[in-house]
Amino acid sequence: MITIALSKGRIFEETSPLLEAAGVVPTEKPESSRKLILQTNQAEVRLIIVRASDVPTYVQNGAADIGIAGRDVLLEHGGVGLYQPLDLNIARCKMMVAVREGFDYAACLQQGARLKVATKYVKIAREHFAAKGMHVDLIKLYGSMELAPLVGLADAIVDLVSTGGTLKANKLVAVEEIMPISSRLIVNQASFKLKRQLIQPIIDAFAQAIA
Ligand code: ATP
Ligand code: MG
Repeated sequence: MITIALSKGRIFEETSPLLEAAGVVPTEKPESSRKLILQTNQAEVRLIIVRASDVPTYVQNGAADIGIAGRDVLLEHGGVGLYQPLDLNIARCKMMVAVREGFDYAACLQQGARLKVATKYVKIAREHFAAKGMHVDLIKLYGSMELAPLVGLADAIVDLVSTGGTLKANKLVAVEEIMPISSRLIVNQASFKLKRQLIQPIIDAFAQAIA
């Protein structure tokens, strides 16, 4: 038996065609089912539905053999104990620094001002600003980062941006790209050795499907 950990929403949607290419079709849709364990057409493959940021934890501990997680989530988690054989190039977006329209970020950089930065991605943000030699006070949030600069909680945010629509709707502008983000296949290292005959064909099918 192998267990694949996925999150609902874009990851599940963008992974479905890849799973199908590997011959794996869930018998129920996670969006319409309340079940957290989904059986598939293959007796030896099941899916579990977890929070996006919990996927590495399930795979690291062997509760799932395989998972799909964003680069953002993997960097925040640390990736210990995870084999990352494949960038699936799905759920693509960018990690960016954004500020209120009219906020002079360049001047702050130049003057070495100490910025308050709100983000869900504290590890990525800390490393980014440290590499630039900037002093920042990080404020951990769990969502709706766009609000923070509007109500004076922070000067800037570090967040994922795809179309920029949410930034624009909240009168924010992206001022710096930190890194491109996409989702990766992750595999428990012990599972990869012990269940190689089940796991390798899935990796191969995914690799072929994205080529
Ligand atoms: P949760 O909703 O559980 O708090 P989340 O918001 O990170 O977690 P999703 O929105 O499903 O969960 O995002 C899953 C992954 O998709 C993220 O980790 C990231 O890699 C990627 N992602 C996030 N936002 C976007 C976006 N706007 N466009 C493309 N990919 C994105
Ligand atoms: Mg989300």
